[in-house]
Amino acid sequence: MSFEDYSGIWVFIEVKDGEIVPVSLELLGAGKELADKRGTELAGVLIGENVTHLADTLYEYGADTVYVYDDTIFKNYRTESYMKALLECCQKHKPEVILYGATSTGKDLASAVATDLPTGLTADSTILDIEKDTGLLLASRPAFGGNIMATILCKKYRPQMATVRPKVMKALTPEPGRRGQLIEETASIKEEDIRTKVLEIVQFTTQKVRIDEADIVVAGGKGLGSEKGFQVVHDLAETLGAAVGASRDVVEAGWVEHHHQVGQTGLTVTPKIYFAIGISGAIQHIVGMQNSGLIIAINNDPEAPIFQSSHYGIVGDAFEIVPLLIQQFKQV
Ligand code: FAD
Repeated sequence: MSFEDYSGIWVFIEVKDGEIVPVSLELLGAGKELADKRGTELAGVLIGENVTHLADTLYEYGADTVYVYDDTIFKNYRTESYMKALLECCQKHKPEVILYGATSTGKDLASAVATDLPTGLTADSTILDIEKDTGLLLASRPAFGGNIMATILCKKYRPQMATVRPKVMKALTPEPGRRGQLIEETASIKEEDIRTKVLEIVQFTTQKVRIDEADIVVAGGKGLGSEKGFQVVHDLAETLGAAVGASRDVVEAGWVEHHHQVGQTGLTVTPKIYFAIGISGAIQHIVGMQNSGLIIAINNDPEAPIFQSSHYGIVGDAFEIVPLLIQQFKQV
């Protein structure tokens, strides 16, 4: 099968509240490495309303070209309109690779585009590489409960597509004044063709700091015994201005909501400091926090696996240790 017509690494640029979502800039960093290795160009696909000016930022973060669909029809994300724009853009310009952030929007759009093109899609990738000569994308992700890394290939179709977890790739240092090529596109879709309407956007802001954006995450596990026991996690987080994280067992017990969950079926976090309190250290949890700058575990079992993934370990009862830490931090 010949893929000679396909070239270029593309990144779907997600925009929220008028700003580029950080994972899109991270993907431009990852995409630039792939593009350089392959000797091809890096492009961003920008879809939204009043978004054209954001292209300047994309050039500074590595994009050579920006395809822009700027129209009121794209004011809010809707699968049908965004998919139509991206499909048409793919059919016209034939990229070799498209990367999306593994956010709810990125996952929804990528799977819709993959189905309609059709092509393959590697979900939740954490490592990306490309074969220099063939252009085959090597997208790897944890599999079998995080016990192995699986590299997934799409040999028969183009473009090759992957969603990539936020905070795994690194954005380039922006080059102020770097410029690229703007290609303005229009999609052949009308409002009456779209079956969904956005009636209201409800912000979900029960916690002050999002765990995947926080510098410090204080996470608690089932070892805290109950929702009442889990309060020590909230208290320490409050003292440090940190976000609250949790293991899956805590979420399943209903002590906190799912958007606090760290791990394979939760969020990946890379804060500067991660506290794991009463968390055993199951691999499915570790994959979501192992790239944190400093990991501090508190557990009353000296053999708990969490200590193997921690920089500092405190063996003892969380209900004795955490209040002491709070007391000390309050004095700083
Ligand atoms: P436990 O394993 O019960 O550990 C509690 C710990 O607390 C123990 O180490 C104990 O020694 C300690 N402890 C007890 N009392 C105290 C005390 N007083 N002071 C200090 N320490 C104490 N898990 C996730 O977290 N995130 C995921 O995304 C995730 N995805 C999964 C996906 C799949 C497909 C599967 C199969 C599992 C997944 N899990 C996930 C579940 C995971 O395997 C573990 O079951 C879970 O992480 C365990 O949670 P825990 O550490 O809070 O509880």
